[in-house]
Amino acid sequence: MSLKIGIPQSLFYYDYLPLWKEFFSELGAEVIVSSRTNKSILNHGVSNCVDEACLPVKVYHGHVIDLRDKVDYIFMPKIISTHKREYGCPKYLGLPEMVQNSVSNLPPCIDVNVNLIKSNSGLMDAVIETGKYITPNISKIKKAYKVAAKHYENYKRLINKGVIPIEAIKSYNNAAKAIGPVNNNGPIFMLVGHPYNLYDEYINMNLIKKLWSYGVRIVTSEMIDTEKVDFYSDKLPKRMFWSYGKRIIGSSFYMINENEVDGIIYVSSFGCGVDSILIDLVQREAREKGIPFTLLTIDEHTGEAGINTRIEAFMDMINRRNRNENYISTHG
Ligand code: SF4
Repeated sequence: MSLKIGIPQSLFYYDYLPLWKEFFSELGAEVIVSSRTNKSILNHGVSNCVDEACLPVKVYHGHVIDLRDKVDYIFMPKIISTHKREYGCPKYLGLPEMVQNSVSNLPPCIDVNVNLIKSNSGLMDAVIETGKYITPNISKIKKAYKVAAKHYENYKRLINKGVIPIEAIKSYNNAAKAIGPVNNNGPIFMLVGHPYNLYDEYINMNLIKKLWSYGVRIVTSEMIDTEKVDFYSDKLPKRMFWSYGKRIIGSSFYMINENEVDGIIYVSSFGCGVDSILIDLVQREAREKGIPFTLLTIDEHTGEAGINTRIEAFMDMINRRNRNENYISTHG
């Protein structure tokens, strides 16, 4: 019987699921992904996590609990750095310890360190250490990673073409099935924020589908080429050392400056220290270039009616501007 490896459908899931899933499957393990976020996952996460944590970290706890009795191992890497001279949020760094101390009766966790701060060689170390939970055969592990990396390239290619990551995850093995950008003449909005806020439909109350229902075409940071992200993030007076921060700043500055966007919606979690800096930078840039900007802050108490009202008001403002009433303030 094959080993069952659990992957929480939260945090890094939206960035790396195809890579991890194919890697474990190639090694002969069965991958079990936790259920999509729901009321019970959220409640379990909130009640098993420290109050001070941000919403995504609480939700992550809930996903781990959802997997607890279903798998042999939970894959919970400690992601320190994914790019040279860049870091993740400090909360990722302590995540495996935090979860294992807060949630009881967990199966063993694959909590390998991923640290590319000095060089890319840290990646292969993490791959081999992870693979060894399933097989001692190193050449088999390397081969499995090679296959997984190819699937991951397909996934990233789909996103570059404008497919939302949650749709790309469903179809990276079959591009024909992917739902691409909505093909219409509606306004182009950039959705800015950490992927786990943008793509978790439960915590953001189906934001993407709501915008699609207004005919909005959505662009997110993941769709923008790395070269453009690097070029625009380098314009900051100080180097951005958070990987997600760099992607958010570089991509939104590109969209704002190349005038390819009608509005920006920043989705943030209450209590996120990283976002408090990023929001300010994006908002200032948007204001300078006259691009409408709005902020949606979500936490475990956010009500759907509040989100709907904010979207309706924002749509209203965009529509009035498009009818040549350009004097309408874009920032309240
Ligand atoms: S970046 Fe913000 S939302 Fe994400 S884990 Fe860190 S504090 Fe939480």
